[in-house]
Parts: sequence; structure tokens; C-alpha cells
Amino acid sequence: MASPSLPSLSRRGFCLCCVGGAFAATTGWLTPRQAYAEARGLVSLIKDSAAISPITTYKLRNNVSVLEGSGGNIAVLTGPDGKLLVDAGIGVSRQRISKALAELGNEPVAHLINTHWHFDHADGNEWLHAAGAKILAHENTRKHLSVVQRVEDWDYNFLALPPSAVPSQVFAGDHHLKVNGASIALKYYGPAHTDSDISVMFTEANVLHVGDTFWNGIYPFIDYSTGGSIDGMIAASDANLAMAKDDTIIIPGHGKPVSNKAELQGFRDMLVAIRDNVGNLKKQGKTRDETVAAKPTAAFDAKFGQFVIDPGFFTRLVYEGV
Ligand SMILES: [Zn+2]
Repeated sequence: MASPSLPSLSRRGFCLCCVGGAFAATTGWLTPRQAYAEARGLVSLIKDSAAISPITTYKLRNNVSVLEGSGGNIAVLTGPDGKLLVDAGIGVSRQRISKALAELGNEPVAHLINTHWHFDHADGNEWLHAAGAKILAHENTRKHLSVVQRVEDWDYNFLALPPSAVPSQVFAGDHHLKVNGASIALKYYGPAHTDSDISVMFTEANVLHVGDTFWNGIYPFIDYSTGGSIDGMIAASDANLAMAKDDTIIIPGHGKPVSNKAELQGFRDMLVAIRDNVGNLKKQGKTRDETVAAKPTAAFDAKFGQFVIDPGFFTRLVYEGV
């Protein structure tokens, strides 16, 4: 198996959802589907690569920062109550994340929130819990992390996490907490990218982490195996737009980690246009392959199709849900 070029992968954050496209790009001829069938090897590749990918820290507002480079983008709130993290990255990044966290202050990690159950957001749960973090998430995140979970579009079975790495505190709808003087509002989307996604709003700092309901500048993965859908992604985008003000800093799950309402609006409009295009083709009786061949994403490929989920794979994901 060829190795992907690490700089281009770490540029976007190295994640499960990204690696299929990157692998196909490297090998030049594999379709994403074929590459995804290699996922067993690719999960090892993700871990190996995450272990040496740099972690980049962006200071945002008040005491909120974001770390890029280990799976999904990780938000960090610092202060006397101990650090609070939103998402845990990939376990093998432990040393590099620890170093980045130490540079933000010497208090321990006390809280961890998972935006959803996916590997590239929750694999670091085990070491962060051992380091002192209490883990909080939606109840469906705990459900998925507690059992073997199959992701059909990856042809991959994820093992249950050890009990210590599974969220000990869960909620169903909304949840509020106050840590380090910051008011933090957690909100369940309903089915979106999975059936376990939540947003995390740091109210005073006006920073909103939206997990994998937003991939900044790239086509998103949608996990139908655990309740995701294109309509759910659009509904979540509308909810994100309703929560965001013009000056809200928005942290996407993947892609350039410091974003804003205008970029989120562009992402939402892309989802709607492609859903409509694919829906019309499906209504005309086109098969999935005929729909891909009709290039319903063409107007957006230059902007969103340059990495991660390629236009054909994204079209297939949308086709499944219209
Ligand atoms: Zn995800």
C-alpha cells in the first residue's frame, strides 16, 4: 500500500472520513469505494500518520482555542476548573496534543465533550479519561461507543471502547454547564451526520463548535449506518445558521478550523443544490451510477471536491437519502 503524503493530509486534519479520498488520490486509480474496502489497513494508516502529524493551535476568543491535526478539530477551554475539550482526536496523537495543551496552561484536563461517536473524534477518550477528564455526550454517542458499530460505507466494524472511555454522563436534548466562568450550551440536532451529533456553544466567547455537521470547504461524509442523512445535514446546517451571529467563530468538524457564518451559509447552499439535483435525477428514474455520470455536483467540485469525499462518492451518499 502506498503511503499518502502526510503534509497534505495533516493540512485538513487527518481523519477516518478523509483517508479514503486521500488513498484514492495517492494510488491514482482506485475508486473511493474500492479504497474504502481497504479500511482495515487504512485505520492503521490513520493512526500511524496521526502519530506524526503536527498539532496546530489557534487562539480564538476569551479562553477558547482550537487544535487541528488529529482527526476532528478539537476545541479547548482553559481556566481554574481545569481544561474542557470538545472532541478527543485520535489516541496516538496523545503526546503532541498533551504538548499543545500544556502550552495553553498547566491545569489538568477535567472535562471532555464528544460531538458524536466517530473514531476520529472519540478515539482519544481513553487517555483523556485517564488524564482526569469526565466525558459528556449525547446518549446515542454512548450507545454507539459501547458496542461493535458497523459503518456500511466503510465496510468496517469499529470495536466498543473500554468502559472508562465511554461517556459517563449523557443527555437526550439540551444540556447546559458552567466551566471556567463560561456558559456552555449543548444542543442535540436530531439525526444529521449521525444520530448522535450535538453542537457546543461557548456563549460569552461567541464560539460555536458544530462537529461534523459542517465540513469547511469540503464535501462531508454522511453516516447512514448510524442515522445520518442528507436532509438531516441540511436541517443541522439551518440550525447552525440560526444559532450563529455574523461575528460568531464557527469551528467545523473538518476543514479549515476557524470559520464563520458566511462559509457555513455556502456549505448549506451547496448541500441544498446538490440534494435537489440528485433528487431530480433519481425521480427521472436514473440509477445511482447514471446519476454519478450526470455530474450533479459539477458546479461545486472546484470548491468542495478537492479533498476527502470526492464528487462521485458524495453523489452516492446524497442519492441514498433522496
Ligand atoms: Zn464524523
